Amino acid sequence: MKIELKLKPQSERRQDVFKPEKPLPFGQLRTDHMFVVDYADGVWKEARIVPYANFSIAPGATALHYSQEIFEGAKAFMHPDGEIYSFRIDKNAKRMNISAETVCMPKIDEDLQIEGIQRLIDVDRKWFPIQEGASLYIRPFMFGTEDMLGVKPSKTFTYAVILSPSGPYYPKGITEPVKLLISDRFHRAAPGGTGSSKTGGNYAASLRAGEYAYSKGASQVLYLDCTNTYIEECGAMNHYHVMKDGTVVIPEFTESILRAITSESVIELEKELGRKVIQQRIKIDDFIKGIENGDITEAGGFGTAAVVSPVGTYIFEDGRELKVGDGRIGSVSKSIYEYYTGIQTGRVKAPAGWLRKVERY
Ligand SMILES: *Cc1c(COP(=O)(O)O)cnc(C)c1O
Repeated sequence: MKIELKLKPQSERRQDVFKPEKPLPFGQLRTDHMFVVDYADGVWKEARIVPYANFSIAPGATALHYSQEIFEGAKAFMHPDGEIYSFRIDKNAKRMNISAETVCMPKIDEDLQIEGIQRLIDVDRKWFPIQEGASLYIRPFMFGTEDMLGVKPSKTFTYAVILSPSGPYYPKGITEPVKLLISDRFHRAAPGGTGSSKTGGNYAASLRAGEYAYSKGASQVLYLDCTNTYIEECGAMNHYHVMKDGTVVIPEFTESILRAITSESVIELEKELGRKVIQQRIKIDDFIKGIENGDITEAGGFGTAAVVSPVGTYIFEDGRELKVGDGRIGSVSKSIYEYYTGIQTGRVKAPAGWLRKVERY
């Protein structure tokens, strides 16, 4: 499908190089344009890049009432050669279609998604923030637009991509580990549900748990499975821990865990990282014992936004705190972060196909 460009006049677009003085916040800024494709009568049509603007949407649209919505999150980076490269967006395009299936949405051609993202970045390349550790955050999403109050899948949809120039997640480098609340009061997802897809409803359902964690002094909940036996994930990050011998352990992906591209990438990088990376079901009791007896030396989360988010302390419902190691960021977490961000930013050689140069179309 041909992508039509209906751009802002040159004079209304960003003109000069974007060199913010202070570290940019994550996800707040927008660029001048967005990529949009509509679905009706069983086909995707009218792929276009247009000025970033409000959508016009029917008050009865399924997205607004029944959360028929899915999304993705990816990043693009500027390399020392001055070119912009998107990171593994083919994986995001594929996962978009997996999520689509779980909430009865149509698949959208992966090559069209990728081309739309690449061309949008090209159109708005002046918005790339020139700043240590900065990136262009890429947010593809799709929502049901049919004006209908019956609980049925919509017959019309919109797919769109917006961009957000973002500063480094850790402006001072990863120095401050986070705290996680271990709680059996909340569950993010259940077997047979939508936990393995990136659908907005999962996030709406997690907000209350997030606020609760915050009130207990933690930044997020470490979710357990519905039987409160196994570790699942953290809501926007997969969970990991590191054994005394340096082995990295990630909970086995189940129906109620999102397959993080960051986790999959760390697994694929096993050889380059020079350590074992394994997946298994992890009992929360064994995990706690492992930290207490020193078998587990580090823990944290994997996800696109922060890449690696080390956990320094786990908090329990009764207020008890459990420190991981000495409570500071460990060397394995740090080395994974360095290697991974090195690949993204072009300082370390990337496996074939992981980076896609944004051409000047
Ligand atoms: C997006 C997301 C992650 C992280 O996935 P990445 O592909 O690494 O960004 C983890 N858990 C959930 C529930 C998510 O929605």
